[in-house]
Amino acid sequence: MARGQCNCGAVAFDIDTDLSGVIVCHCSICRRSTGANGIAVVVVQNDAFRWTRGEDEIATWAKPRADWQTWFCRTCGSPLPGKNDESRMFVPAGLISEGCDGLRVIHHIWVDSRAAWDEIGDSGQQHREAFSSQC
Ligand SMILES: [Zn+2]
Ligand SMILES: [Zn+2]
Repeated sequence: MARGQCNCGAVAFDIDTDLSGVIVCHCSICRRSTGANGIAVVVVQNDAFRWTRGEDEIATWAKPRADWQTWFCRTCGSPLPGKNDESRMFVPAGLISEGCDGLRVIHHIWVDSRAAWDEIGDSGQQHREAFSSQC
């Protein structure tokens, strides 16, 4: 069980499963989207995820000619959970305020594309590109 929300609190959600681990995508698109070294997410089954507030406050943007889309709060701009694939959602890990005790980074993807200043210092497994359809 985990719970999270955006910065302004307009959008909130519950996750009804144990979180398996954090995946960090270091690709250039995720970097621009967050302004940081990429984005850290957890991936959960659709039926374990539930919006509890503000689903109509969600805005989206899809990058032209790329299989990439972002979901964000139209008021505060926080990145929000979105569609990972047909059966799963990804949830930006930084939104989660409860239920992340013991959670660790397990995978880094698109490591070959990371920023020059981005030094990976944890024990997560590093993948040069994507290791599956995730992110
Ligand atoms: Zn917000
Ligand atoms: Zn990415």
